[in-house]
Amino acid sequence: MLINMKQMLEIAKENKFAVGAFNVADSNFLRVVIEAAEENDAPAIIAVHPTELDFTKDEFFQYAVSRAKNSSVPFVIHMDHGDSLASIMRAVHCGFSSVMIDGSLLPFEENIAITKEVVDVCHKIGVSVEGELGTIGNTGTSVEGGVSEVIYTKPEDAAEFIEKTGIDTLAVAIGTAHGIYPKDIKPELKMDVLEDIKGRVDIPLVLHGGSANPDEEIAKAVQIGIQKVNISSDYKYAFYKKCREILSTTELWDPNAIYPECIDAAKAVVKQKMELFNSIGQAAVYRKENVQPWRQEQN
Ligand SMILES: [Zn+2]
Repeated sequence: MLINMKQMLEIAKENKFAVGAFNVADSNFLRVVIEAAEENDAPAIIAVHPTELDFTKDEFFQYAVSRAKNSSVPFVIHMDHGDSLASIMRAVHCGFSSVMIDGSLLPFEENIAITKEVVDVCHKIGVSVEGELGTIGNTGTSVEGGVSEVIYTKPEDAAEFIEKTGIDTLAVAIGTAHGIYPKDIKPELKMDVLEDIKGRVDIPLVLHGGSANPDEEIAKAVQIGIQKVNISSDYKYAFYKKCREILSTTELWDPNAIYPECIDAAKAVVKQKMELFNSIGQAAVYRKENVQPWRQEQN
């Protein structure tokens, strides 16, 4: 079933779990996320960065949307780090049910202005919107960007930003970075900043750059009140580690001979993340609550 982010995360918030958002840039990774979700009866978010959409091409989403719609578990197809109204509209045309507009590098007032513009357009057709305040760091190993130093979200700005933009979910910067951390860097999340934000706002909160943080830190953040955790590097790394191993020890050339084991290796990482987020088995809650499939024309 395809639903939007608001439908997805309100249930997560009420039931105290988080949903993993996994970046997808080809049919192998789409299979990893959808099949892992089905095998674990867990909700999942298919996240697509503008550079990933450039690579897959728009027609890929006729397959992705129909695969998600026909599944027994709930999915959101979400644009990750949309950078302009144009990239947001492209995602909407591809059938995405949710978008993120990332104005976090802009001055506060300009971030409010572009985010509100996207909300005004998207809410007319039931597409949910994620905004970002503060900036996620970048380890230098990810295409998603970020800054070399994390600028923490100011809790006092969060409520004002939500009120002035009308966003459905907010990505907060509490110390994570995109990519896999270099060996000499230890990521550390500021739980006090998260608790402060939580005390001031009511909408679901999002954690970007969730790869390679210590499991107990992510679990703690979910407990305090994170409802969506973005994962990209960790599961892609597992896929290609297996792929390198197969290619360096065999002469195989057929995708259907090489990829099944790579898909399984990536699925194992997705399952482990779902355990951490407490989302395994939670697809049943959406069925129990009788959540209805999302349609683009719905308000
Ligand atoms: Zn991100």
